[in-house]
Amino acid sequence: KAAGKRQWRHYQPALQAGLIERHELGEHLDSAIAIADSAFALQYQPIVDLATGGLVAFEALVRWPHVQRGMVLPDEFIPVAEESGQIVQLGAWVLERAVADTASWQHLSNGRRRRDQRPPLQVNVNVSARQFRDAGFVDVVRETVRNSGIAPGTLILELTESVLMRRDERVRADMQALGELGVGIAIDDFGTGYSSLSYLREFPISILKIDKSFIDGLALSQQQYALVEGIARIADTLGVQVIAEGIENTDQRDLLTSMGCPLGQGYLFAHPLPVDRAVALVRGDAELAGLQTIRGRPER
Ligand code: C2E
Ligand code: MG
Ligand code: MG
Ligand code: MG
Repeated sequence: KAAGKRQWRHYQPALQAGLIERHELGEHLDSAIAIADSAFALQYQPIVDLATGGLVAFEALVRWPHVQRGMVLPDEFIPVAEESGQIVQLGAWVLERAVADTASWQHLSNGRRRRDQRPPLQVNVNVSARQFRDAGFVDVVRETVRNSGIAPGTLILELTESVLMRRDERVRADMQALGELGVGIAIDDFGTGYSSLSYLREFPISILKIDKSFIDGLALSQQQYALVEGIARIADTLGVQVIAEGIENTDQRDLLTSMGCPLGQGYLFAHPLPVDRAVALVRGDAELAGLQTIRGRPER
């Protein structure tokens, strides 16, 4: 910038390095996908009932521990996998693993959950736009659910608004097919994309996940509060559940409960957990944090 305009050549080496880096990452991804079971792992972040503190669901989040690169985060490799199409295979692996884990956890906890009159544990799985557009996607979901034996309603697919933006026939037909299958559909990061409440009317959406950026400002700005409350109220009227993402402190939690937002997720309760720690929660051998003053729950 200091050198004035038209000095873009300066940036070319960096850009090139970026391309090579992406290319290499893509090749590493290829070899990892070939041995997905040993190359990738899932972590599970609890989604909690804000009023009772109960564990309602886990969001499955993919992790790639890499020998040279350390822990590669999804924000780094998912975009690469989307661009190359590798996400179709990787996404199918995530879905299968998440559903298989959940099936076994439902067996562990069903008796207790029924006694406590709680519905079976659910699992939320992220689906990228490219993955959704793949011609085989609905069949993959159908097969995965069938093979696992879980009730279809206990699987929630998290889609971003970019999927719904194209209102073409294929999107419509696939959304309807998923609806008929009985799996839940959540809009992820709601409010950050081309948000339109008409999605709620046009597609079988069961959950809105309000993006963390809205929750961040909740205790600081009346406008933010009003916005979140408004979204929660409209969703409720339409019979759509709301999950608040990225709850990090008790102020945010208390404001959300006071506005009647039913469900939340965030570091206040738990970070994404490795499988053994998720199992401990399911078994009741471990407890969630951040719930002490929640309405209707005794202080510990
Ligand atoms: P997302 O689906 O919106 O997931 C929530 C992200 O926010 C996760 O990051 C989670 O660790 C983080 N998070 C949760 N609570 C808090 C909090 O209180 N504070 C802060 N600062 N962060 C919080 P993560 O695991 O790095 O994933 C990032 C994104 O990568 C996800 O955003 C999702 O879009 C994508 N992703 C992750 N796993 C998969 C996958 O299996 N398939 C696809 N297609 N995308 C995935
Ligand atoms: Mg998500
Ligand atoms: Mg999200
Ligand atoms: Mg996100």
